[in-house]
Amino acid sequence: MSQYVNDLIAEVKAKNPAEPEFHQAVQEVAESLSLVLERHPEYRTARILERIIEPERVIMFRVPWVDDQGDVKINRGYRIEMNSAIGPYKGGLRFHPSVTLGILKFLAFEQVFKNSLTTLPMGGGKGGSDFDPKGKSDLKIMRFCQAFMSELSRHIGPDTDVPAGDIGVGGREIGYLFGQYKKLRNEFTGVLTGKGLNWGGSLIRPEATGYGAVYFAAEMLATRGKTMEGKLCLVSGSGNVAQYTIEKILQLGGKVLTVSDSDGYIYDEAGITQEKLGYIMELKNVRRERIKEYAAKFRTATFTAVNPKLDYNPLWSHKADCAFPGATQNEINGRDAQNLVRNGAYLVAEGANMPTTLDGVRVFLDAKILYGPGKAANAGGVAVSGLEMAQNSMRLPWTRDEVDARLRMIMKSIHATCVQMADRFGTPGNYVNGANIGGFLKVADAMMDQGVV
Ligand code: NAP
Repeated sequence: MSQYVNDLIAEVKAKNPAEPEFHQAVQEVAESLSLVLERHPEYRTARILERIIEPERVIMFRVPWVDDQGDVKINRGYRIEMNSAIGPYKGGLRFHPSVTLGILKFLAFEQVFKNSLTTLPMGGGKGGSDFDPKGKSDLKIMRFCQAFMSELSRHIGPDTDVPAGDIGVGGREIGYLFGQYKKLRNEFTGVLTGKGLNWGGSLIRPEATGYGAVYFAAEMLATRGKTMEGKLCLVSGSGNVAQYTIEKILQLGGKVLTVSDSDGYIYDEAGITQEKLGYIMELKNVRRERIKEYAAKFRTATFTAVNPKLDYNPLWSHKADCAFPGATQNEINGRDAQNLVRNGAYLVAEGANMPTTLDGVRVFLDAKILYGPGKAANAGGVAVSGLEMAQNSMRLPWTRDEVDARLRMIMKSIHATCVQMADRFGTPGNYVNGANIGGFLKVADAMMDQGVV
């Protein structure tokens, strides 16, 4: 690591204590960018990276609401408006008890580079709450969403900041949030993405992150003359990203062996078929139950509960060609990464954000496998959110085929940018450097043009 990066990380840690995920995200990016900053001292003089690391604005607020028993509950709400150099702030809302300022800052920071890579005019942001929607009635969820939007509505707008979904925020929550925004502001605008189809949503938005991750994987495989056909795949998570990752792998002829939630994982030796995926979607999106039910329904499957005593996740120890982490941050540690490589995996495409620890990333880079980091591989979701904004502005919906074709084109372009940037800065095949540098340059040049603001 260069002295510049060492000093920068030390400063970030001192200034942002108790935010380890934010430190991790900054460190990975800064290591890649040291290559650029050596060649382009003008970015250093203008302190572009230091400015990108500092959010333009952090909004933190109280969310009081009343539950079914009449008890008053208090959660904490956040919106991190990280960077608006190339467009309005854009990024999801996460509702999960693990949400903290540091988690949302890491996600907002990643989002700046990801949104830049999509080729669309979107700045970076992220938000959410420590509210846990799991097991709560629709009525409670609605009351919470209304309370959350009562404050958030002051800070967002279709040309200012356009939130979307993330963990714990799907179509149901976006509906309640949009309804409250519309009531408070008396305007029907594209202020959120991931909306329902008959009130401003885009076709392919629910599918976009998962489909996009598999399109990205297919592009990476093509560089080695391979396709998804017949590939054995490990998928983690069973939410939005995991479900559509599985669907696209199946459409391209791959075989999916695993799926998980926070209680444990399923290994299905016969493979998860489209019919079994239909069962998972009903289980998770309608009944909102746990993934272990899958093993009771299908005899070819076994369920392994999470064992907190283990320092690795056995899901990543199965023999496979490809891995698609689709649950959450830091779900693949150094040991998991070694297990994957040892058992023959030669491709990892990250549907989740920062699912691999820094140790794990080093294992993948040293083994020279095809490793697509989240900010490139999962950018399909925000890309189609950008297309939803475009359709809202035109007040014209596009067809399913049109949006899918654009998604495919964008994933191809992100892949090409990663490859070209990695080559240009002397690290061919390194998609981490390619994504970080490609995402950075566009934002950095816009910031140079716009002066010190
Ligand atoms: P989701 O629909 O809420 O599903 C999340 C899945 O991950 C669930 O199966 C959940 O299990 C599991 N999970 C969540 N937190 C976990 C934890 N701490 N430990 C173990 N498992 C955990 O969310 P999603 O939209 O699919 O998002 C998944 C990942 O993709 C996140 O990293 C998100 O930031 C990223 N991402 C999403 C989008 C998008 O368009 N939605 C776009 C880009 C990136 P439980 O149900 O048991 O909690």
